[in-house]
Amino acid sequence: MFTIKEYVRPESLDEAYKILMKNKKNAIIGGMLWMRLGKRTINVGIDLSHLGLDKIIEREDEFEIGSMVTLRELETNESLNLAFQDIFKEASRHIVGVQFRNLATVGGSIYSRFGFSDVLTAFLVLDCYVVLHNGGKVSILDFNNGDYERDIIEKIIIKKNNSKNVYLNQRLSETDLPIIAMAVSKENDKYKIAVGARPSKAELAKKASDLLSGNPTDEEINKASEEIIKELDFGSNMRASKEYREYLSKVFLKRALDIINGGETYDD
Ligand SMILES: Cc1cc2nc3c(=O)[nH]c(=O)nc-3n(C[C@H](O)[C@H](O)[C@H](O)COP(=O)(O)OP(=O)(O)OC[C@H]3O[C@@H](n4cnc5c(N)ncnc54)[C@H](O)[C@@H]3O)c2cc1C
Repeated sequence: MFTIKEYVRPESLDEAYKILMKNKKNAIIGGMLWMRLGKRTINVGIDLSHLGLDKIIEREDEFEIGSMVTLRELETNESLNLAFQDIFKEASRHIVGVQFRNLATVGGSIYSRFGFSDVLTAFLVLDCYVVLHNGGKVSILDFNNGDYERDIIEKIIIKKNNSKNVYLNQRLSETDLPIIAMAVSKENDKYKIAVGARPSKAELAKKASDLLSGNPTDEEINKASEEIIKELDFGSNMRASKEYREYLSKVFLKRALDIINGGETYDD
């Protein structure tokens, strides 16, 4: 059973960080949806809900997403989704259900770096930074690959750019975990492709991304989709085989590029 011995709601991030660092068994609480499924005994559970981190702020050149912003807000925030062609809506709307998304937080989702994370896959293709209380501002790519275990995610910064973005996923049934997740971004004829739920953690397929430019031909798209399979590891689990995931990644790259370049729309 999951147990929290003491619950605190600090009035500042410094106070929250000091409490976190006092004991390895102290932990930040996001929406607590994942944590509550575990068997950990947490010494002090630190609730950040008094710190004003539940807002999405738009500035001239960037969006700031507080770590306590819920996945439902990420899904429904109009200016954010307008700026990034619904990538957040598409990456959030299949996650469990509305009541769940009203509680699950962006901070908890990014911090956890789950292999199945729709949300992380989408953030990876954007010009995006994680702001840590102690570690400062790090790119989402460094955060994804690095070891930032004992820190507080304060917010996520996404720079506005002229990118066009798409998010696609496949699930065996609606609200289940994805068996493949793909985000593709095109900025000034340069592409970024991220693939998650392979089933391992989402990563950028850098070599494949570099094989694409402008409006790629079918031959270039085929080469890029072969490269994705070479440079990223795909595997099997109870939901899908390695071969099926590899196949889907090829289909999805083509579909994502059709949406970005060909004016196709998302299927429901
Ligand atoms: C049944 C179920 C199904 C799910 N399905 C999907 C899915 O299909 N796709 C998907 O993308 N996700 C899925 N998720 C993950 C979910 O969307 C959230 O990512 C997850 O619940 C964590 O968010 P939370 O706010 O509940 O974090 P919590 O459970 O509160 O915390 C998770 C971890 O993050 C730490 N943490 C939380 N906030 C911070 C912070 N600001 N700074 C530092 N550390 C922090 C906590 O200490 C803890 O270690 C699923 C989760 C569950 C339980």
